[in-house]
Amino acid sequence: MANVIRASAYLVDIEVETVRTDASQAFLKQETLFVELTTDDGLTGTGYAYTIGTGGRAVLSMLREHLLPSLTGHDSRAIEGAWRTMYDGTRATMVGPITALGLAAVDLALWDLRCLRAGEPLWRVAGGHRPAVPAYDTERGWLQLAEGELVAGALQAREQGFSGVKIKIGKPTAGEDAARIGAVRDAVGPGMEIMVDANQAFTPAEAVRRAARLEPFDVGWFEEPLPADDVAGHERLAASTAIPVAVGESMYSLAHFREYLQRGAAGIVQPDVSRIGGITPWLKVAHLAEAFGVDVCPHFLMEIHVSLTAAVPNGRLVEYIPQLRAVTTRQLTIADGFAHAPREPGLGISWDRDAIDDRRVA
Ligand SMILES: [Mg+2]
Repeated sequence: MANVIRASAYLVDIEVETVRTDASQAFLKQETLFVELTTDDGLTGTGYAYTIGTGGRAVLSMLREHLLPSLTGHDSRAIEGAWRTMYDGTRATMVGPITALGLAAVDLALWDLRCLRAGEPLWRVAGGHRPAVPAYDTERGWLQLAEGELVAGALQAREQGFSGVKIKIGKPTAGEDAARIGAVRDAVGPGMEIMVDANQAFTPAEAVRRAARLEPFDVGWFEEPLPADDVAGHERLAASTAIPVAVGESMYSLAHFREYLQRGAAGIVQPDVSRIGGITPWLKVAHLAEAFGVDVCPHFLMEIHVSLTAAVPNGRLVEYIPQLRAVTTRQLTIADGFAHAPREPGLGISWDRDAIDDRRVA
């Protein structure tokens, strides 16, 4: 019992809730891949993955033509085996985003089934460190916002109990970035974390220069200063600044994280459960980082990452970017500065099936 008897995938476009630009891109719409797996004991698990606007149909095609057919008849409880079977069947496109996103959607559906079958919430099944974790706000720190808007947003976030804010950097001059971060620090005082994120915009030399300009403002971490494939550049930057270097949202394999950690090139890791290929590899990244004394602050997807951050002892902060309001019936609970992991069995995301159907495009 518990074998997969039906597997389906579809694509849903979810409109962005606000304008979001950074130093290298804009969030156009959330292309959301849904996977539903039904087992012979009558349970259905739902998983999902996303892109910020391109490639969704390629992932859907990968799911329908290759990943899902290999699952039929598979024991849904044997998740490592299912993951490996799918991976082995698509080696020609791994490591890469299209296959990783497809794997993630399936893997999340398998974990949903595992938690439903256990009658337990994800945060406990995945490790069970503690039920709530601190959250920081990114939604009020986009690059297109004026300095006054950043300051007002940070003060509002502090009032709402967030322990930190993240501000996008990558303005044409180092002085402009420094002025914006300095204004926020002046406004919130010393008690709140301020993180910065360059979305891979700089060269190593420019990143070293900008980090030096930002050090006086006690920055919590410098996120994606350089292209993700430049491990040596991150290593050089990490050795030159007291600001922890944070990477991970653009990384698609456990081995990539291992290389950063082995070389001391990352002070924080930010795996994205969708881009890394699901909960199964996400947990491996978290445990690997723990062995190096590095905390995990995952990228985006707060509805699922709240449970994963709560599951592991080195999960430090959840990123607040609401993007599923239109297709869910209950929102992430943030109280007294903590994001609370859902308590009901399964992944704990209360999908609004009608709203999802309305937005289905393929
Ligand atoms: Mg980022």
